[in-house]
Amino acid sequence: MKRIKGICNELAEKSDLYPTYKRLPLPKKVILPLGSFRREMAPLVKAGDKVIAGQRIGEDIEGVIPPVCASVSGKVLEVRPCLGFSGQEILSVVIESDGETNTKSVDENLQRELEDRDIIQLIFDAGIKETDQFYWPLPLRIAKPGLTSVIPSYQPFKTEPIDFLIINGMDRQPGVSVRRNALINREKDLLESIPVLQKVSNAGKIILTVYKDHPVPLDFEQKLKDLGVTILRCPSRYPIALEPLLVKFVTGRDIPLPMGNSRAVGTAVIDAITALRIVEAVKEGRISTETTVQVSAFSLGVNVHVTVAEGILLEELVEQLFPSLENLSKAVIGGSFLGYAQQNFKVPVTQEADVIVLQNADELSLYSNQPCINCGFCVRYCPMMLMPNELSKNCEYNRFDVAEKNDLFSCIECGICSYVCPARRPMVHLFRFGKQEILASKEES
Ligand code: SF4
Ligand code: SF4
Repeated sequence: MKRIKGICNELAEKSDLYPTYKRLPLPKKVILPLGSFRREMAPLVKAGDKVIAGQRIGEDIEGVIPPVCASVSGKVLEVRPCLGFSGQEILSVVIESDGETNTKSVDENLQRELEDRDIIQLIFDAGIKETDQFYWPLPLRIAKPGLTSVIPSYQPFKTEPIDFLIINGMDRQPGVSVRRNALINREKDLLESIPVLQKVSNAGKIILTVYKDHPVPLDFEQKLKDLGVTILRCPSRYPIALEPLLVKFVTGRDIPLPMGNSRAVGTAVIDAITALRIVEAVKEGRISTETTVQVSAFSLGVNVHVTVAEGILLEELVEQLFPSLENLSKAVIGGSFLGYAQQNFKVPVTQEADVIVLQNADELSLYSNQPCINCGFCVRYCPMMLMPNELSKNCEYNRFDVAEKNDLFSCIECGICSYVCPARRPMVHLFRFGKQEILASKEES
């Protein structure tokens, strides 16, 4: 545990390099994945089409997942499978920006009084994507029973009343401060989101979770209390901000795993950034076309939060931020514990990414992994009480059926087992590989 505390403190200190904030100019080109490798969407545009920012360019045939919208205005160059930052090829729309800033809004007529059903529809149409992976899409997770039928494809989903609506103000891992900054800098917008969320969810209790060593300004806390929100200060202990552990800590309830749905235990979880996107969609009719991501380059002493059009290529983002950077060797999109290492910088940065860590050649630790020595550290520290040592061997030697039986899908990919492993086994990499193989074989059969 000392080692985990060690890295948490070290990363937390680095993140306190006072993140600055920048809005980047429109990118020359964006790549917008249509869904994920698990669920691709149908394109609504083709090469040569003109699009404006906010225009719907892809939608789920079954209408369950919110649509994908253009993040810039310009010309569609291609619709083809492109590599995403998680290493999967996903059907994507490639748009060349024309530099125009016209944006289509969700609903042109927001002056009227909004009914609950209008709000849910606006949230769906805004195409909000989330950093955390959830079992159900956002509008379905937060809609009170009965309201889900507004979206026709949600009709078959049976929803329970929401006892707890958790707004997660805690960043997912040490060293990241995107949610924390949003709480401090966008207090007014966050307060505006509360009545909206209360109206659509009819939640018994709304709880804002924060790390106990990240103080919330007293007047903000009072305003939240006036709106009926409880602030819960949680221990600064990774990975408490990840959904199953968060729900357990806040409500004492266990999400049924694998692939758990928190609504099954009367709980809805969203993060603070999503709450802000919801209020932008509902109050301003704004479609979610931008992303705010933390870029940390410790060798340069840089820790900056950038807001930029979604789908910007990693190489363009780096070029815009550090025009004279030379020996960049590696980027990790998604952070040190939860992220995906990139050697190819032509991948798009989407709303699912909250942090990008850049490393130069001197910072790389080069090692080769060794066979498991059965020390048991990974078993001791796994927060999901799994047997990571056995699971990793099963994935490594293609025994996917055994891995699945042993709860591979309950793994939240927190990376703690990799971190404590003295043999430096690439545990999370093996788990992701195993999950993809199992899902792919299920799709085929
Ligand atoms: S990544 Fe490792 S430690 Fe984390 S839940 Fe999965 S098996 Fe457990
Ligand atoms: S920590 Fe690494 S070496 Fe130790 S049991 Fe787990 S996989 Fe094996």
